[in-house]
Amino acid sequence: MSEARYARHLLLPEVGPAGQQRLRDARVVVIGAGGLGSPVLLYLAAAGVGRLDVVDDDTVDVTNLQRQVLHATPAVGAAKVDSARERLRDLNPDVEVVTHRVRVGADNVTDLVGGADVVVDGTDNFATRYLLNDACVLAGVPLVWGSILRFDGQVSVWWRGHGPCYRCVFPTPPEPGQVPSCAEGGVLGAVAAVIGSVQATEVLKLLIGVGEPLVGRLLVHDALRQTWREITVARNPACAVCGDAPTITEPVSLEQVCEPARAVATISAADLASLRATTSVRLVDVRGEGERAIAAIEGAEPVPLEEFRTGAAFARLEDTPDGVPLVITCKSGARSAEAVRLLQDATGRQARSLDGGVLAWARDVDPTMDTY
Ligand SMILES: [Zn+2]
Repeated sequence: MSEARYARHLLLPEVGPAGQQRLRDARVVVIGAGGLGSPVLLYLAAAGVGRLDVVDDDTVDVTNLQRQVLHATPAVGAAKVDSARERLRDLNPDVEVVTHRVRVGADNVTDLVGGADVVVDGTDNFATRYLLNDACVLAGVPLVWGSILRFDGQVSVWWRGHGPCYRCVFPTPPEPGQVPSCAEGGVLGAVAAVIGSVQATEVLKLLIGVGEPLVGRLLVHDALRQTWREITVARNPACAVCGDAPTITEPVSLEQVCEPARAVATISAADLASLRATTSVRLVDVRGEGERAIAAIEGAEPVPLEEFRTGAAFARLEDTPDGVPLVITCKSGARSAEAVRLLQDATGRQARSLDGGVLAWARDVDPTMDTY
């Protein structure tokens, strides 16, 4: 072990040579080498964590570079795990970097987290997040979780036997499309560094055994107001995976756990185009202003999904004449289906969701339209 490299750690009485040796002996599994995985991996490698397992099945895309600072421009097109290994090796050759170019699934998650001292969640989707939580609960491994969207971030540590798990706090996964991904909603790149470095700090504290881990506490960060809120969270005795009578006893992929959303009436892009050619159709777009600025169907009226959730949209749509078909659209059809359900449940008014959303319209009707 190079004393000079870790000199500033060795000066800390809470770390010292013993703490540095604990880092050296540790194995951390980081799921996702993206926005959150970037700062986490960089700081853990710099800190001298002995073995880092990097799990990601994706390749570096130019749109990643705005926040995924682990990857540089020449790595565009390369596997993220390869780009990560190279960068981390340059940063600290003491660290063993083991790469797994796989998508996390029910079939491999137990093997991936097995033997880890700490697991880090740097994923960007709910299916993997629940799967990872369940696997870590079953293995008894602490899971350092973070999540970012737009200007907001959340971070906590889930650890069976010490505090709640992710499922205790968020028992049901959102319906597909209910929560936008960073690809749909956007994210300020530096927010990834804020949340990722809190995750890295928590990993180092857990490994060294100092301080109070972020267990049973959920931090909520608002970068626009530059504030942090701390929410106390507790284990739920009825939790499906860590509760008193768990129903999940092995990792199961989300599709099997999730109740499918109630189906709504839909219309295809081609059918909508022909219908509009012959009759008056009221077309409503529930996406946000930024998304509509990129691509929108001509004549579509903006009514944000939030207004369907609060009920404000219903009065606006009340004046739709009875014979005029009402069609609701979004990017790919999930949010518009939610809007149709909300409208029908609240008012009984029939409406259809544009199947596949503006992406289907761009593909089947108007190929000149931009997509995102
Ligand atoms: Zn739980």
